[in-house]
Amino acid sequence: MTALSLAMVLAEAARRHPDTVAVVDGDIRVTYAELWLEARSFAAGLHELGVGPGRTVALLAPNVVDFPRVYYAALAAGAVVVPVHLLLTADEMAYVLRDSRTDLLVCHTSQLSIGAEAAERAGVPLVTVGPVPGGVEVRRLEEVSDGVAPLTSYVTREAEETAVVFYTSGTTGASKGALLTHLNLVMNATVNVFDANDARSADVVLGCLPLFHTFGQTVAMNGTFRVGGTLVLLTRFTGCAAIEVMLREGVTVFHGVPTMYIGLLTAAVDAPTLPRLRLCVSGGASLPVAVLERFNATFATTVFEGYGLSETSPTATTNQPHYGTRAGTVGHPIWGVEVEIARPELDDRIELLPAGELGEIVIRGHNVFAGYLGRPEATAQALVDGWFRSGDLGTKDESGFVTIVDRKKDIVIRGGFNVYPREVEEELARHPAVAQVAVIGVPDEVHGEEICAVVVRDPTGPPAPTESELIEWARERLGRHKYPRQIRYLDALPMGPSHKVLKRELRRLIGPRAP
Ligand code: ATP
Repeated sequence: MTALSLAMVLAEAARRHPDTVAVVDGDIRVTYAELWLEARSFAAGLHELGVGPGRTVALLAPNVVDFPRVYYAALAAGAVVVPVHLLLTADEMAYVLRDSRTDLLVCHTSQLSIGAEAAERAGVPLVTVGPVPGGVEVRRLEEVSDGVAPLTSYVTREAEETAVVFYTSGTTGASKGALLTHLNLVMNATVNVFDANDARSADVVLGCLPLFHTFGQTVAMNGTFRVGGTLVLLTRFTGCAAIEVMLREGVTVFHGVPTMYIGLLTAAVDAPTLPRLRLCVSGGASLPVAVLERFNATFATTVFEGYGLSETSPTATTNQPHYGTRAGTVGHPIWGVEVEIARPELDDRIELLPAGELGEIVIRGHNVFAGYLGRPEATAQALVDGWFRSGDLGTKDESGFVTIVDRKKDIVIRGGFNVYPREVEEELARHPAVAQVAVIGVPDEVHGEEICAVVVRDPTGPPAPTESELIEWARERLGRHKYPRQIRYLDALPMGPSHKVLKRELRRLIGPRAP
């Protein structure tokens, strides 16, 4: 048994870089020494409320400094943290609270009405953090903590114990709680910054990805704290707001999902260059090569695309400076992690395929989660022969570069032929009038499924082609079974809380076309 706590990430940063600014949140600037003291003070408050080892704290907060304060307080108190997606309904939040057997919900006051409703439905007590609007009666964590002495350190845990439970978005059935251990999360933050990204304490990182999601939490927040850098929080991402903050704070590192890269490009028409920006990381969904190339040219930078899931802490592979980058791939497995391709049709065992063959991506190593909370069957389906089955299809070439072909569940089967939406999206993204595109299968009497491309026009590009012109353009570039027979224009694509396109929502929105 090895003693290890994710709380060490902040504790060590406070020891090594006490006077460095850890977090910028609007006008608020908090050093590592201050943040760690505040976290220990909240941790004492949590102990006061009966939350310690063996207990679970849910955290509902936007990207404000109270997020890391409470997150590290709960870890320092020895509790498990359940970050709650901000865009869930009260019912969905109540489900997360019940399913995770949460003992206490810490709710930022900006989310009070929905948080209070969810807590009541789940029968979970609630305390708030943040400024309380006048006339509202709540129990405040600040007040509880003020009455007690801060903890002197964090409560030690075991490396293999659960530190954080991430709820999956539920595209594959009921939302499940993925159990991430202290070891998983400490290692992922560490390998991301020191090995894959070569981050430094002088780095200023834009924290625009939601902190409740694994990408923003491990890669942006914990990674920055691991190296002693500065995290500049942005509550609501827009391309313009991000550029403004990046210029003002001299941001050197940007992490984002593809939608954010598109947002920055759209906002960048008259924007000045970002001279201090040295590293950009994309993940969470596939970044069309056309977008990557435009971004590199516009901002004179190199985007490193990575790949992972909530279940893998999240990073499994990434393009890394020491291997060189290859656009359209997600690079190599990160240090200490194995990524292979397995036969996708075998459910109960793993049979690895040779280099170059298409199959299911399987992952093994320090980043792989311990299982789904209270779901032995789902765990047994996901963890087979010591490997984690990702549900994604991909290839790995002779030199180790991994390419994601698509999610297994997003494949469109048109007339018996498998079509990978990502390939069609890549091609359409090259059209100068297209800002964003998502390809889905829609029911079709003749072919079973038909290929439909849902397109957002580029407001800075040339006039958009008509639907039939765009179909014709795609027909000239894609095989007969692949090019879209339907084009729909939308003003925006439906996004999940982590800014990823929600294909299931899109399928619901775009029903079959009237005959
Ligand atoms: P769900 O919980 O239903 O799986 P989610 O998107 O919320 O949905 P995450 O763990 O955040 O779950 O996302 C993991 C998925 O994101 C991967 O399985 C993969 O399909 C996709 N993904 C992540 N990075 C990339 C990438 N670089 N290229 C293509 N797909 C990616």
